[in-house]
Amino acid sequence: QDVVAEGTIKMQKYDLSEITPEKRSSLLQRPIIKSDEILERVRPIVDDVRKRGDVALLDLTAKYDGVRLQSPVITSPFPPELMSIDDATKSAIDQAFDNILKFHEAQYDRSTLVVGTMPGITCYRFSRPIKSVGLYVPGGTAVLPSTALMLGIPAMVAGCKEIVMACPPRKDGSVASEVLYVAHKIGATKVLLAGGAQAVAAMAYGTESVPKVDKICGPGNQYVTAAKMLAQNDSSAMISIDMPAGPSELLVIADDTSVPAYVASDLLSQAEHGEDSQVVLVAVSLASNLLEEIEKEIHKQASCLPRVDIVRQSIPKSFILNVTNMSDALKFSNDYAPEHLILHLEDPDSWINEVDNAGSIFLGSYSPESCGDYASGTNHTLPTYGYARMYSGVNTQTFLKHMTAQKLTMDGLDKIGDTVMRLAEIEGLEAHRNAVAIRVKDIRNTK
Ligand code: NAD
Repeated sequence: QDVVAEGTIKMQKYDLSEITPEKRSSLLQRPIIKSDEILERVRPIVDDVRKRGDVALLDLTAKYDGVRLQSPVITSPFPPELMSIDDATKSAIDQAFDNILKFHEAQYDRSTLVVGTMPGITCYRFSRPIKSVGLYVPGGTAVLPSTALMLGIPAMVAGCKEIVMACPPRKDGSVASEVLYVAHKIGATKVLLAGGAQAVAAMAYGTESVPKVDKICGPGNQYVTAAKMLAQNDSSAMISIDMPAGPSELLVIADDTSVPAYVASDLLSQAEHGEDSQVVLVAVSLASNLLEEIEKEIHKQASCLPRVDIVRQSIPKSFILNVTNMSDALKFSNDYAPEHLILHLEDPDSWINEVDNAGSIFLGSYSPESCGDYASGTNHTLPTYGYARMYSGVNTQTFLKHMTAQKLTMDGLDKIGDTVMRLAEIEGLEAHRNAVAIRVKDIRNTK
């Protein structure tokens, strides 16, 4: 511990050509999540909220957030005095809001898909908003209006009717005015002043003052994630969640054209998130002086950060991997499936088609991840822990579900009838076969 605290802030370093396949596999792993232990801690909290509703919510907030509230909910319209923010903050939030709105609005295809699969058979597909959603905005260690924007805007664009935004209260019992301002802008119906597992349980099961929602989205610490998983697996809660979440991550691929100070600043912007944050630098045939320059910059810039103590824990757990070509770099990155991928490359656009797994990609020296975290338009709630292999980040579709419809004419049913009857027969489902047979008989009798 002392060696790390006093020494240079330094990432570990490996050469792809010198490590064994087993070592390569271990570099792709994330820190183990102790889920059983956390689940055991979270289960009684969830049960308590289910049994005692608001009273439990208020007790648990007193216990974990250190404040005894009168009521756990603020209902819209929110009092203007609780949303008062300075002009510079307002204009920053408003600009971020406009960009995120523009990008998420463009994702919403409101048209109905109509396909004639055979003469007389038409299939339709269209979307509807999920009626009621719960958005978890973390607040344990930081005020996160950006997460309120990233969850709230797609829910608003999708047209969700009931939007409950949950955020742990501060020690004085208030919610950050920036978060409440965003809640107001996205049309939240209620703000739940609670955090952790108790907030998730209240939204999953409902209490006297918190409406039960259909889907819960948003990042949070291990208690939040565990409660989301518990509720999702409980059929009596009948809810879905956006995705499992873990500590934030970043993988940077850099070539000789990269700017060392920029690369270092990007690595640190993730490493400051938390002690478990993981950052990876894949260096493609990087000249040794350039790599040294990046390492120097990491130490120099990290030493000046207010969150240097967190970085001192996260950077030594992170690593640099030297590779000789882009094919090896991309293979490693695709296997790792990072939440964020930054391409510090001469021609980053030309490699985008080779990226199979990543939550969000940042192209070139002037696209720092911070812009996507806050204001450029893309979403920052992204799959971590390798889940970018099969999950998308939060987007407008997250708050929609799709329905299909079909219409068969008499002729269409006549044409497909024998196929359906044969398949029903194979499966031994006579009532299915009969529902077609009874009609086909009439159709064929009239011909
Ligand atoms: P949080 O809001 O997730 O958790 C705070 C709550 O945790 C408290 O209200 C309390 O109820 C509960 N809690 C604390 N200690 C507990 C204990 N011992 N037992 C039971 N419950 C307890 O805030 P946080 O802790 O600051 O975590 C935020 C997380 O969200 C971080 O891991 C951060 O990286 C992540 N995050 C991710 C994204 C993303 O898009 N991926 C964005 C923002 C934040």
